[in-house]
Amino acid sequence: MTEEVQKLVNKGVMLPLMEEFYTIQGEGFHKGTAAYFIRVGGCDVGCHWCDVKESWDAELHPPTPIGQIVENAAEYSKTIVITGGEPLTWNMDPLTKMLKAQGMQIHIETSGAYKLTGTWDWICLSPKKMKLPTEAVYKVANELKVIVFNKDDFRFAEEQAAKVNENCILYLQPEWSKREKMSPLIVDYVMQNPKWKVSLQTHKYLNIP
Ligand code: SF4
Repeated sequence: MTEEVQKLVNKGVMLPLMEEFYTIQGEGFHKGTAAYFIRVGGCDVGCHWCDVKESWDAELHPPTPIGQIVENAAEYSKTIVITGGEPLTWNMDPLTKMLKAQGMQIHIETSGAYKLTGTWDWICLSPKKMKLPTEAVYKVANELKVIVFNKDDFRFAEEQAAKVNENCILYLQPEWSKREKMSPLIVDYVMQNPKWKVSLQTHKYLNIP
């Protein structure tokens, strides 16, 4: 990446675009909704069970002008999901402003580990133990989605639920490789603690991206 391009990426007017695709949102509150996914490269949160490790190194993904990203998205859907990687690695203000100007509904999937930029219609906060969310994002998150990899994640989930705003919807989602072991525990937990709901990666069951 040249210095000039790096400057544009730092401003958020170009973004390292890993992939973009039209599919069904499989998880959380908007499960079942058709949406255009924009996967931005770059993440140093370091979840050992991460299923998109190829997103981590931003250098591997072509710096793409946000105008191009918006043009591609506009062909498919009014509901846009910005995911990663960790999208808040970058300044999301320019991209979300441009998408909003097209009348899009914009959702983000984030660990919340970095400064919250951008204007969002829906914030899915999926906190990670290795790099906790910033205080600001707890106040505005619309859903809290805690990935359950082991039993300690129930404790972590409660710790995180104590920090979010009162309107935030609470989800427990089994980590995909542990789904057979953790799903029954999640079911029991939600029945005993009904403020929580179960979220599943339904797109994986449907064999879609
Ligand atoms: Fe992977 Fe997301 Fe964790 Fe980053 S925050 S390592 S993209 S699961």
